[in-house]
Amino acid sequence: MTKTFTARCACGAVEAELSGAPLAQMYCHCTDCRAWLNAPVHAATGWPAAQVRLTKGADDVIAYKRTEKSHRKSCGRCGGAVLVEHPEIGVTDVLASNIEGFRFAPEMHVYYAERMINMKDGLPKFASMPEAVGGDGKLVAE
Ligand SMILES: [Zn+2]
Ligand SMILES: [Zn+2]
Repeated sequence: MTKTFTARCACGAVEAELSGAPLAQMYCHCTDCRAWLNAPVHAATGWPAAQVRLTKGADDVIAYKRTEKSHRKSCGRCGGAVLVEHPEIGVTDVLASNIEGFRFAPEMHVYYAERMINMKDGLPKFASMPEAVGGDGKLVAE
């Protein structure tokens, strides 16, 4: 049986159902996420878009596109972030901290070149993103 998870905003008005497992788990340091979330870094999980389904509160969702690459969705009631769609690569990023019962196991850091804080944890640190998802694949030393 396929495992499912529920992700929700702070007030619970908006919910998404996730099925299976994410493609990748990472810390994102990009300036766009930081501005949107008002946080220096965030725990991101990238899922195939087809495995993420908005199941509750579609009318309360606010969409924000800083660029066409990333469609950020949050709850209009509590302001809580829910997910980020990346239509060009068919991946949806769901904030790990919003997924009930999910054990975040980060594999890498992305957009580390834009970081606000250093994190010395031995994980690979991509200046942008791995080549497989459209980045230049360059690594930054800790
Ligand atoms: Zn909410
Ligand atoms: Zn980001």
